[in-house]
Order: sequence, then structure tokens, then C-alpha cells
Amino acid sequence: MHELTLVEGIISYILDIVHEKGGHVVSFKVVIGEFAQFDKNLIKDLLLELVKGTELENSKVMVEIEKAVVTCLCCNSKWGMDELLKPLNNDQREMIHFLPELLNSFSRCPNCGKSCFEIEKGRSVRVAEVKLNV
Ligand SMILES: [Zn+2]
Repeated sequence: MHELTLVEGIISYILDIVHEKGGHVVSFKVVIGEFAQFDKNLIKDLLLELVKGTELENSKVMVEIEKAVVTCLCCNSKWGMDELLKPLNNDQREMIHFLPELLNSFSRCPNCGKSCFEIEKGRSVRVAEVKLNV
């Protein structure tokens, strides 16, 4: 249960903010990078379940997927995750899910054929916004 651990971490992070700043959380937003490949609905369901009985119980919970943006530093073109992962096999895709930098080992730029990728967006899971009503 990878997701459960993640959601517990998110909640305790937000509770820390509340305890530090005081007030009441009106809403919070969690952004899931496409590379992390978490199920948005599952994360939201778990959040709604685990905030029960905490100070976040009545907060509005928002979960969004952040599309991946990968730049090829050799030719300066930009790519989405699907375009780069499509030619790969399942094992390679799974490894990239755990370590997106492996794109440079497995994928080639569709434009220039080289592998000098830099991941600009969509790698991680983060709490993007916490609205407090102080
Ligand atoms: Zn390129």
C-alpha cells in the first residue's frame, strides 16, 4: 500500500502547518506528477477517508494530475510522458516509474535520436496549496 503511506504523509504534513500557523484549513490541493503514476481517484478517496476525525475533516480536498514535460537538451524539443514511453516495454516503463531519470537509458528523442533528457515537470507528488482561514 504505497498510496496509503503517501496519503498519511500528506495529511501529517498539512496538520503540521495547521499546528504551526493556527486556524482552520478551508481547502488543500495535492498535485500528482504523471511520472509517479498514482491513481488520482484512489488518492482522493484515501484522503477523504483518512481526514475523518482530524482537523481536516471538513476541508475541501483537491487532487490534480500534473502532465509531464520532458526537454531534450540536445535539440531543445519538449515531450510528454506518453510519447517517450510508448516505444518501451513494460519492464522499462515500470523502472521509469520508480526512477524517471532512466529515460536517458531507455528512450531516444523522437526528433534528434539522442538521449539527453531533463524532466521539467511531472515527477513528484506535492502539496501545492493549503488555504487557511485564520
Ligand atoms: Zn532531441
